[in-house]
Amino acid sequence: MIHYALPPSLENDIFRFEQEFVEFRAGRLHETAFTAKRVKMGVYLERNRSTYMCRIRCSGNIITPKQLASVASLAKTYGNGKVHVTTRAEMQLYRIEEGDVIPVLRKLKEIGLSCKGGGGNSVRNLIANYDSGISTKEVFDVQPCLLALTERLLRESDSWELPRKMKIAFSSLSEGEAFGFIQDICFMAQLNAEGKQGFRVYVGGGLGAYPKVGVQLHEFVHQEEVYNVVRAVKNMFHLYGNRRNKHRNRIKFLLHDDLGTSAFRTYYRQELNKVLEHGYAKLNVGTVDNTENVKKDISLVPESEESDDFRIWKKRHVVRQRQKGLCQIKLSLFSGDLSAEDCNALEEFLRPFGDNTLRLGTDQNLYLINIPERFLANVYKEIMGYNTLSDRPRLYGNLVACAGSQGCQVGLTAPKAVSEVFLNYLDTVAAADFCPPADMMIRISGCPNACTNHWIADLGFYGKVRRVAGYLIPTYNVLGNGGVYGGTLRIAEKVGWVHSYDLPRFITEVMRRYANFKEKSESVVDFHDYWRSGGKDIITELCVSGYNDIPTFAEDKNYYFDHGADQLFSLKGVGHEECSAGIYDIINVDDKIVRKNLLQLVAEKELDDNSLDILLRSTLFHAARMLLVTRGEEPKAEAEVYSLFTQHFLDTGLVAEVHRPLIVSASQANKVQAGVDSFFEHKEQIIAFGEELTALYGNMDNTMRFPGERENMVIKVANQKDESSFTSVAQKGRPDRFKDLSGVKCPVNFAQIKMQLFAMSSGETLEVILDDGAPIENVPISITSEGHNILCQEKNGEQWTVLIQKS
Ligand code: SF4
Repeated sequence: MIHYALPPSLENDIFRFEQEFVEFRAGRLHETAFTAKRVKMGVYLERNRSTYMCRIRCSGNIITPKQLASVASLAKTYGNGKVHVTTRAEMQLYRIEEGDVIPVLRKLKEIGLSCKGGGGNSVRNLIANYDSGISTKEVFDVQPCLLALTERLLRESDSWELPRKMKIAFSSLSEGEAFGFIQDICFMAQLNAEGKQGFRVYVGGGLGAYPKVGVQLHEFVHQEEVYNVVRAVKNMFHLYGNRRNKHRNRIKFLLHDDLGTSAFRTYYRQELNKVLEHGYAKLNVGTVDNTENVKKDISLVPESEESDDFRIWKKRHVVRQRQKGLCQIKLSLFSGDLSAEDCNALEEFLRPFGDNTLRLGTDQNLYLINIPERFLANVYKEIMGYNTLSDRPRLYGNLVACAGSQGCQVGLTAPKAVSEVFLNYLDTVAAADFCPPADMMIRISGCPNACTNHWIADLGFYGKVRRVAGYLIPTYNVLGNGGVYGGTLRIAEKVGWVHSYDLPRFITEVMRRYANFKEKSESVVDFHDYWRSGGKDIITELCVSGYNDIPTFAEDKNYYFDHGADQLFSLKGVGHEECSAGIYDIINVDDKIVRKNLLQLVAEKELDDNSLDILLRSTLFHAARMLLVTRGEEPKAEAEVYSLFTQHFLDTGLVAEVHRPLIVSASQANKVQAGVDSFFEHKEQIIAFGEELTALYGNMDNTMRFPGERENMVIKVANQKDESSFTSVAQKGRPDRFKDLSGVKCPVNFAQIKMQLFAMSSGETLEVILDDGAPIENVPISITSEGHNILCQEKNGEQWTVLIQKS
């Protein structure tokens, strides 16, 4: 077996999706609701908001040459003529017209491929190291187990309805691979004392804006039992996942922040015991034969080649497999792209070698495998005719870049464009006096989301926008020294930032300095050694002294454009922030401080009077302020915090009356300012107050209400109704309620709208005034994503009138 079987439900899934597409196009299905269904099917709206990208699952990084050619013909017929390889070893098709999406999904199914689970809150593509089964360094081939697990998971309906996405990987290598430590679950191949095949299991890894390294969950699990582990983690995710805030709804947050490792392990054990009691069937793990081409009589005449270029190519791109006489060959792609014509030529060329000859790398390259050594010259002559980077130094294939602002909805900068400029720059510099080091891995992302895994690169970058004299400029944060050493993963460190315009020059300069350093120092064998031997300081200094001065617009306009762009840099078209997430972020700032303070206060460490006073004052203040944003309040002064807290939380009975004297006392202490010895005597009450507020936050539901609150809210907001002066959106008639939110920033305006909507009945209308800019761009989308309808929105000068109907 070298391929997974598609789930039997796929035909129905595509049929249902087709109906949903019809409903959406007819305007009977709201865009937000449709988006949730669409991404689950692996179909994404592109940044131009008119065409789609389809993401194709390729479990275990496997694609057959025939499948590749069929996908290429879809790219040519329906897309932009290119097949794109992702860092999750999937393939993507771009520029698919709305009416062509369903035909593409159907045609993929005919060739045994599917996009389902390419996005959304699902089990994503299961991946492994591309050289599993052929590497000389591996413990055993993990592909059979991975494919068996894929088939099982794809048949489970809850794999598509998780609290959030779940990423699973396998590694066949004894030390593990960097990507293994950044998965929700990773299985790293091990043999136990009896020589049985199994895995060390890691959980809770992940990158994005908050990178976390996975922690070990099992020392050894038999390979037939990996499903039990996944089932138990899935159950835990369903039970404890943070559904309120999708930005914190991953296993990594559950493990590292919400529960902590010890409690996570306890809950996991409970779930695993239930799974074991249930007695699920063991995985039926097969085998993959990677020796076929050694024995086979291949109908191709071996060619010969004596050139230096051929010898250099072999050195750079060819690696011997553990199967004697067979080789794996790296086909370096620029940013993961291969043209449809090259895909077709490759399929034709590989035909004599069979189906098991291609793998997708998580470095966005293609790998030819199981190629008998005697045919290397044939391969060389064939692929040199392709439009790839295979004729260039190995480093060219070690550059991973995402599309960023050139295609992705949330991309800030354009990594692909800057990479192109960098490689051209490198060509000219390298040709002159400098050979780029072959052992470096460079990853460039267009935003903090880390799709290129920039946190595990030798040199990593992610897009960041800075403001200079009223202009927005595209820049990159600079990271270094990520990767696996001695069986553990190091997350890269941030050491500075550079302008996008200067990035090609900067990377070249770093490489040049590294290469020179290495040449002079025998002890420096790789970039990690260089970093520890002074490279970090050199690069940090380089950022500050050579790359952080921004010329004025008049001096050099280049800094105000991104690479590949003919328009002045702006954030136009960047995806919208979710208002709810913004509210949770604001709460979390205070929540984190309160929790940290409480730990210190109950630890009973000796603190001097001044420190204790500061700690108590801070706990009280942050606890009182924490949840005010849910009431649409944004107090500026300390006195305002206590006054609003009294109004929203004490007077409403949401917080126990016993805390009132403390709040009164705090407001009085605040009036006469610091220096008042008012807090020592309240230490126990302040601890209790902090604990109550963090618990209240823990009990808040995803509509930002608290247990028993509904009645109070109705009374409170209903009273405001009579005080409102209505101005209606003319053609829609008089609304049921009105709220003027001019001057109120995101996400507080959103919270105030939610307050109003709580108190309204289904079908009632609310008219709001919002400012131009972020409020009008963010709020309506967030309101509709909660299921309410926007009946209309109209611009009046610098403000917008928006009419909302409660769902
Ligand atoms: S890293 Fe950011 S810009 Fe790049 S593909 Fe991912 S989300 Fe888009």
